[in-house]
Amino acid sequence: MKKGALIVISGFSGAGKGTLVKKMLSAYDRFALSISMTTRAPREGEVNGREYFFVTREEFDETVAKGGLLEHATYVGNSYGTPKSYVEEQIANGKDVILEIEVQGALQVKEIFPEAILLFVTPPSISELKKRLTGRGTEAEEVVNKRILRAAEEVVLMDRYDYILVNDDLDECMANAVKYIDAAKCAPVRNEHFIKGLKEELEGFSKGV
Ligand code: 5GP
Repeated sequence: MKKGALIVISGFSGAGKGTLVKKMLSAYDRFALSISMTTRAPREGEVNGREYFFVTREEFDETVAKGGLLEHATYVGNSYGTPKSYVEEQIANGKDVILEIEVQGALQVKEIFPEAILLFVTPPSISELKKRLTGRGTEAEEVVNKRILRAAEEVVLMDRYDYILVNDDLDECMANAVKYIDAAKCAPVRNEHFIKGLKEELEGFSKGV
């Protein structure tokens, strides 16, 4: 079976990446979502094992020590990490696995898996971002400000991504995400096995003439 791709989706907090990912998962069977581990407290409505695995600092550090995380990073005072085994299993099963993670983790993934496809989701402007974050109503003003300051750090690393997804209209954003992923999957770097097969066939052919 052809292996699936590893897709990393990052973006400013409030860019709408969570909504985008949910839509991709419900519209296409080919995607599987990695559920992260975090030390952050659950927000209202969040369920352990659905949005995140909510763990204590000790549990998190223990998982890191055991080598159970593909990557991990700190974001606004809390730790977040990607459990390794699920990602490996799903890719082997041919699923395109989505990691919705922040930039430091994304760049760690790119180091380990150079063939990972990195997408960065952004609203059309920072004033739009502030409007969305304030409108969400789940965060205190101080947290909103911290998240915008974090965006200033993240913007510096945006050029390390493969594609930028402007999320103005959600349907259009999802169509673009799928288009970019499909294009990226055709790049030679993600088709080494196929190229090798062609080379072998050609070698066999040249021997026969
Ligand atoms: P939130 O607290 O809003 O759910 O997430 C905060 C940030 O952490 C978001 O940018 C989210 O994408 C990122 N994040 C979630 N899970 C992980 C993870 O496993 N690893 C890393 N590096 N970042 C994550």
